[in-house]
Amino acid sequence: MDRYVVIGNPVSHSLSPAIHARFAAATGEAMEYATLLVPLDRFEVDVKRFFDDGGKGANVTLPFKVNAYRWAGTRSERARVAGAANFLAMRAGVVEADNTDGAGLVADLTGNLGVALKAKRVLMLGAGGAARGVIAPLIAQGPARIVIANRTVLRARELAARFEGVEAAALDAIPAIDFDLIVNATSTSTHGEAAPIPDRVLERTAFAYDLAYGPSAKAFVERARGCGARASDGLGMLVEQAAESFHLWRGKRPATAAILAELRARVA
Ligand code: NAP
Repeated sequence: MDRYVVIGNPVSHSLSPAIHARFAAATGEAMEYATLLVPLDRFEVDVKRFFDDGGKGANVTLPFKVNAYRWAGTRSERARVAGAANFLAMRAGVVEADNTDGAGLVADLTGNLGVALKAKRVLMLGAGGAARGVIAPLIAQGPARIVIANRTVLRARELAARFEGVEAAALDAIPAIDFDLIVNATSTSTHGEAAPIPDRVLERTAFAYDLAYGPSAKAFVERARGCGARASDGLGMLVEQAAESFHLWRGKRPATAAILAELRARVA
């Protein structure tokens, strides 16, 4: 049986084993997918042992995405842009790193939520690991304008400078324009807070998306809705990045609607 894991610390809360079990059953793939809890100072030792013992692939979650990127033998272009990897695969004796978060976000927005990105105005809040992971796939969709706003404006400037035409702003100096989409890639939701942007920005926004999901994202999603925007949490992104991982490992793209609906009921 081909073995896969999600590596993290903590990791027992991960929904990935349930998602991949459903994908495997639906596509008839013989594989098992478990959690692998790794002590904070043992990522490199334990991930090497997993692959040495015949493991085929791993998803990587907090706090090891940068470790995974550095440890892998080869890196995809989108992992390079992110400087972090949530995906590892053993191929011909070499472990490849990739980052499927951005593809997951784009698939959820354009496929599940009907949010077009081409020629649209996009505001990204945050310039941390998650923002770096999703920015290149967002740009690849051809938006008219992308503004990255971050508490530490220097980090927004550094990230924006890597792409032609992407603008940077401080959270209190966001351009006064109508955004088609706001992506909250700050970690404020994980701390139970709504993103620190004024209501006037949300009031001029068509759609607001929080990368966090479930109860964590509630404050941001509800505030955006209160300001008249459509809004979603990032549960669909989680499922879609898993589908992208599954496709890269097994060569089959699983359907996502049923498991997304099931998880939506479970996390509500
Ligand atoms: P990170 O690397 O620690 O970055 C945190 C970001 O949030 C930085 O831009 C930081 O600004 C900003 N921030 C933190 N506290 C803030 C505050 N009080 N006010 C304003 N800005 C604040 O974290 P991350 O890895 O990017 O994760 C961000 C979020 O994405 C998390 O909620 C995570 O769960 C989510 N995520 C979801 C998925 C999914 O599949 N749905 C995948 C990946 C990540 P400074 O630069 O100023 O510190």
